[in-house]
Amino acid sequence: MIVLLRNIELYTPAYIGRRDIIIAGEKIYKILECNTCDLPDQWIKKVDCKGFSAFPGLVDGHVHITGGGGESGFGSRISEINISDILSAGITTVVGLLGADAQSRCLTALYAKACALEQQGIGTFIYSGSYSVPIVTFTGDITTDLVLIHKVIGAGEIAISDHRSSYPDLRALLELASKCHLGGLLSGKAGLLHIHVGDGKAGLRPLLELLDQCDLPLTLFLPTHVNRNPVLFEQAMYYAKRGGYIDLTSGEEIGIPVPDALVALIAQGVDLSHVSISSDANGSTPSGSAGKIQTLYEDVFRAITDKNIPPQTVIPLVTENAARRIQKYPAIGGLFEGSFADILVTDPSFRIAKLFCKGSVMVDNGQIV
Ligand code: ZN
Repeated sequence: MIVLLRNIELYTPAYIGRRDIIIAGEKIYKILECNTCDLPDQWIKKVDCKGFSAFPGLVDGHVHITGGGGESGFGSRISEINISDILSAGITTVVGLLGADAQSRCLTALYAKACALEQQGIGTFIYSGSYSVPIVTFTGDITTDLVLIHKVIGAGEIAISDHRSSYPDLRALLELASKCHLGGLLSGKAGLLHIHVGDGKAGLRPLLELLDQCDLPLTLFLPTHVNRNPVLFEQAMYYAKRGGYIDLTSGEEIGIPVPDALVALIAQGVDLSHVSISSDANGSTPSGSAGKIQTLYEDVFRAITDKNIPPQTVIPLVTENAARRIQKYPAIGGLFEGSFADILVTDPSFRIAKLFCKGSVMVDNGQIV
C-alpha cells in the first residue's frame, strides 16, 4: 500500500514547511513539494492533512516494559506495559529495561516482551543489566551480549547515588563502561551505559569522577532522572555544558517538571542536542505509584503550549536526540526519505490524529486501530 499524506506541516523534527509525504511499505519513499506527486491515482491512498502536522514518532528510551517496582513488597509489583498505552502516547519506539528488581524479573522475560511489542507493531530495543554491579547479563558478559543479541544496545539502568544501588566503586563502573564501549565498537551499536541517578548525596559525582579517570567518549554515558531534585539538576546542567549527555524523566512530581526544566536549560544556554526525555513508565515513582508513559507526550506538548517553546525546539528531545543516543538516527527519530515511516500526525491543538508505525496506521482519528 502506498499512502500519500498531502499538505502536511512537516517537522523532520526541524520545521521545513508544508509538504507531501509518500509512504511505501515500512519506509518514507518521498517527500515532495505539495501536489507534485506523479504516481497514478489508482496506486495510492490520498489523505488530506491540511492544518495537521507530522512529527517523527516519539522514541522513549527508558520504559519498564515488564513492569518495575515491588518496593513495598510483592503486592506493589507493577504490571507490564500494554501496547495501547504506548501508542496513545504517540510513541513508536521504546527501549525496555529492568530496574531495581532483578530477582523476580529477568532479562529473558524482558527480551520476550520486547519481541512481543515488536510483533504488535512498534520498534523495540533493550538494555542488559539492572540496578546492581556486577550486572545481570544474558551471556555472562555485557560485551558478548552486545555482540550476540540484536536487541541489546547497552547496559542499564545502572544505579548510582541511590539507597537501592550496589554503590559500585569507580573501578567497577570503569570496567563496565569499557566493556560496553568494546561491545558497541564490535557490534556497531551505541554500547550505551545508561545510569540511574538517585536522590543520594553524591548525585552525579561518581560519574564526574569516572570521567576524570578515563578516556572513554562522553557519548557512551547517559545519566537519567536528572530533574528529580534541584541539586542534581544543577550538576546535570554543569555536566551537559562540559559536553555530557543528560536524560530528563517526564511526569516528575517532586523535582522539576520537564516543561520547567526545559525553560531552565534554555535560560542557562545548555545545548539541547545533549538533552533527551524518557518516561520511566511502569517503574515505581518516588511517591510509590506507577510511572505513566503518557506523561512523555503530555510534558512535551505542555512545554509547547504552556511555555511557548517552539515544537522544533522541544520535539527533537523525544525523537532525534533519543534516537541518536542509541545510534538509530535517522532510521528512526527523523522524517526523511528512507527513514522508517514512524509518523505522528497531530491536529492544530497538538492532539494525536494519526500514528503510523513502520507505515501501518496504529492510531486513526485519535483512536487506536
Ligand atoms: Zn531509574
